[in-house]
Amino acid sequence: MSSADIPALLGGTPVRSAPEPVYNMIGDGEIAAATEVMKSGVLSGFIGRGGPNFLGGDRVKALEARLASFFGCSHAVSVNSATSALHAAVYAMLLEPGDEVIVSPYTMSATASSILFCGGVPVFADIEPDTFGLDPAAVEAAITPRTRGIMAVNIFGHPCRLEELRAIADRHGLFLAEDSAQAPGAMYKGRKAGTIGDAGVLSFNRHKTLQCGEGGALLTNRQDVAMRAALLRNHGEVCVDDLGITDIVNTAGLNFRMTEIEAAIADVQFSRIEELTEPRVKLARRLSVNLATIPGVTPPKVADDCTHAYYVYCPKVDEAVTGVSRDIFAKALTAEGFPTRAGYLRPIYLEPLYQRQICFGKSGFPFSANPRNALLDYRKGSCPVTERVQDHELLMLNCVYQPYSLEDMDKVAEAFRKIIAHADRLIALQAA
Ligand SMILES: *Cc1c(COP(=O)(O)O)cnc(C)c1O
Repeated sequence: MSSADIPALLGGTPVRSAPEPVYNMIGDGEIAAATEVMKSGVLSGFIGRGGPNFLGGDRVKALEARLASFFGCSHAVSVNSATSALHAAVYAMLLEPGDEVIVSPYTMSATASSILFCGGVPVFADIEPDTFGLDPAAVEAAITPRTRGIMAVNIFGHPCRLEELRAIADRHGLFLAEDSAQAPGAMYKGRKAGTIGDAGVLSFNRHKTLQCGEGGALLTNRQDVAMRAALLRNHGEVCVDDLGITDIVNTAGLNFRMTEIEAAIADVQFSRIEELTEPRVKLARRLSVNLATIPGVTPPKVADDCTHAYYVYCPKVDEAVTGVSRDIFAKALTAEGFPTRAGYLRPIYLEPLYQRQICFGKSGFPFSANPRNALLDYRKGSCPVTERVQDHELLMLNCVYQPYSLEDMDKVAEAFRKIIAHADRLIALQAA
């Protein structure tokens, strides 16, 4: 047997030895746009007053116009991160302390923290095993008299069951918000993910498919939501009088403002969204066709009437069929030259904040503001599908970006096959 046939984790030659390429899609257009702002000397257009600068500078407004037009929604409010946009989305829904919002546990922590920062209590509902979004049946089962909304996540770049979630929200008088930080441009039944909810959230941080360093936006078709987000973004409490706003509920503000430089960069990045997304889709499709032929490996599902933005590429492995534990599989793929994470993030309810129900101060607010406090279930085992996917099934690869080539995708599949072919020897590592 030649060294190339032996898994790199067992001392063989890796399928790919070249260093991991850097994903850098910042082009001359972005550099020129940022430089122009720099030369102007006006790096931000915001003033914390109710006058002409309340809504920011020209670049911020241009970015927002582009986003609204691309997404086909009436308002886009840019902010300095998706974390801020999530905060604004929930804040605009006017929770009372202790109100419950049903949220996916399989997401970045900020999705749920936004609820806490608005005095609300996250209630975690389980996910679907194939696209990893909120399971509508689990959401329905989690509704109580204190439920005010649903926070859905279009995770890894694939839309969740937005139509069903929208219907549940409408039937129970709840809001629906979408964390679409990972899914810009993904389609759901002919509509853009991020626009089915009362508010949708985008991220432009450096690790996302489109970036301006740090940045985000809130999408909405509701004028009241857009206005409250704009007030939160820019010191609303001192702006309401000038703006003639008399309903001051949830208008106390922070500083979530985006600079003109970031807006200029994000605007150019967004003008290239198809150019930035299509190669990812092509690479992912090639890899999925390959992986579908391997027993025990399930490529990421793309539901009917949906498209996937492939922020990351997450297949599942069945340890019983491949004969290799998921954790060893991830290590072995990494050794073959394709850095792979075992799972994504642990379910949010297992974080200490939820385990101990300590957030603001020592006495348990906002959990303590919920009369059903004792019934809030953050125990291990409370979302079994999430825990199974995270602990045993999901592999996270980040190889579907340029300059990786279609041939590289065939090599990824080759690495999968090589690992499974040597399952018996890799099992020894598990025991060790
Ligand atoms: C990246 C991300 C966020 C946070 O984005 P920032 O812009 O870094 O604040 C929120 N939710 C999800 C699902 C994300 O992937």
